[in-house]
Amino acid sequence: MLLTPPRVEVHWLRVGHCRHPEWVTLRGGRWQPVDFPAHCALIIHPSVGPILYDTGYADHFAAETRTLPNALYRWVTPVQLPAEQQLRSQLRARGVRMEDVARVLVSHLHADHVAGLRDLPKARFTALRADVVENIGRRGIGAVRRGFLPGLLPDDFDRRLDIADERNVVDLGRSWSPFTRGFDLLGDGSIIGVPLPGHSPAQLGLVMWNTDGQPVMLVADACWSTRALNENRLPSIIARPMMHNWSRYRTTLTDLHTLRRAQPDLQMLPSHCTEAHAAFHARRHEPTRE
Ligand SMILES: [Zn+2]
Repeated sequence: MLLTPPRVEVHWLRVGHCRHPEWVTLRGGRWQPVDFPAHCALIIHPSVGPILYDTGYADHFAAETRTLPNALYRWVTPVQLPAEQQLRSQLRARGVRMEDVARVLVSHLHADHVAGLRDLPKARFTALRADVVENIGRRGIGAVRRGFLPGLLPDDFDRRLDIADERNVVDLGRSWSPFTRGFDLLGDGSIIGVPLPGHSPAQLGLVMWNTDGQPVMLVADACWSTRALNENRLPSIIARPMMHNWSRYRTTLTDLHTLRRAQPDLQMLPSHCTEAHAAFHARRHEPTRE
């Protein structure tokens, strides 16, 4: 691993949400419904430019789930996307246009992570091979069962796709154990892709160093809350069908919990955690856009 990897500027954005009783996403949680926000990252790289990690929700989600079988997805997760949380307006507030986005690092292909890809005309995409292979080509109920809505992908998705697993492997070092290796996604050591399998076949997590010099780890849906991470607490059994492989999900969650204990100050950001989002912004004294 590079001793001084290039730093990047990380913005953690909330782009829409749905609501669930807390016990669905956290075993032993409350009965009352809580927000289940969709976050994505805007990452400003010094030479590549603006990069996204996922997109959160977009209006395409509503359009794609108007009729059956995709409407099943919408019934399970009714989505709210206020105008001020639209990705376009949040990027504009930071001086970035949608056509400026050079690349999207896709954690996995669930609709709440890729709904905005069609709005990014110049971006190339990076994803782990197994997530692509397991989903591309699926249609109808077979796709929606996996949380995959093929109509959300741009028509030329295949041509704009780079496979993360084909990048050079880098050693993360013992302090990141049990995550010892990752993929050098940009070739300069600035953003390391770490597979977090179980929720989806592969699932791409990221390790990078923010402009303040602090490492940040984006863990997507490998866990759904900081509390789950801290306590190694699984979701409800009712969430089990949402997982590609339950036993791998458990192993990945335990690995993240182990890392959490070894590096208690590491900023670990699950994609759907309100608490982690607030803590990230509090650390930077930035206002949140709730
Ligand atoms: Zn997911």
